[in-house]
Amino acid sequence: MTPPSEQLAALPRRGVLLILSSPSGAGKSTLTRALLDTDSEITLSISATTRARRPSEADGVHYRFLKQREFDAMKDAGELLEWAEVHGNCYGTPREPVEKALAEGRDVLFDIDWQGTKQVCEKMRADVATVFVLPPSAAELRSRLERRAEDSPEVIASRLRNAAVEIGHVDEYDYAVINDDFERCLNELRAVLHAERVRRARQPAITDFAAGLVKDLADLQPS
Ligand code: GDP
Ligand code: ADP
Ligand code: 5GP
Repeated sequence: MTPPSEQLAALPRRGVLLILSSPSGAGKSTLTRALLDTDSEITLSISATTRARRPSEADGVHYRFLKQREFDAMKDAGELLEWAEVHGNCYGTPREPVEKALAEGRDVLFDIDWQGTKQVCEKMRADVATVFVLPPSAAELRSRLERRAEDSPEVIASRLRNAAVEIGHVDEYDYAVINDDFERCLNELRAVLHAERVRRARQPAITDFAAGLVKDLADLQPS
């Protein structure tokens, strides 16, 4: 017979909406990819954006790259859970995949800025856990943006200027990690996700499981 604890693990739970934010270049995308590669229960929310595609990016994988009028049409049709202007471009989270994942008890990972985080929290706070990723230093942030070599010097300069504003919102987040040693930081993120998954409120079946234990205790013969 399957032990009760394994039966419980197989029962549906509420999904975690795990949001990552950071100044550009702190390492969110790299952390996101590593987490997705090693955890089959979480899927990425693929944002819509009006930003130009980078050479390393594919449409529909990293982002849905849209013309401004296509983005506006999605927004006007209420198809975005949240949207914001970041570094002079529009970014938004398609609503439907998030609602579908939650209904199916699957987790969703978001790489969105502080404005988007605020909007998602206002709408679905009980399901959300937020993590802010900090770089180890200002100089390292700049050299990561330069090493990534995907943006022009003007774009890098503008992202560095915006970094202070993003970092100014760190206190609004549930968790904060410093992305110095990559593996250590990744393990901290995994720990956050594991802890959020076992929150009692995300496991409604725990109530019945505990009631069953209490009943079995009452039935136990004195030894
Ligand atoms: P990178 O973070 O430097 O790789 O730059 P990106 O161009 O990928 O992202 C630019 C900014 O837009 C970041 O601050 C992201 O967190 C933010 N962003 C990305 N997707 C979304 C989204 O769906 N909604 C919102 N509000 N912000 C987003
Ligand atoms: P973001 O998505 O936050 O803009 P990226 O994930 O694109 O940042 O990372 C920016 C650059 O820094 C990339 O070239 C990436 O390989 C590098 N990087 C990420 N994390 C670390 C780390 N812990 N140590 C050194 N370099 C890193
Ligand atoms: P990048 O242009 O470097 O891919 O992303 C720049 C910033 O946009 C990052 O901070 C990223 O988190 C944010 N971003 C990406 N997608 C979204 C989104 O859908 N919504 C919001 N609010 N921010 C996003």
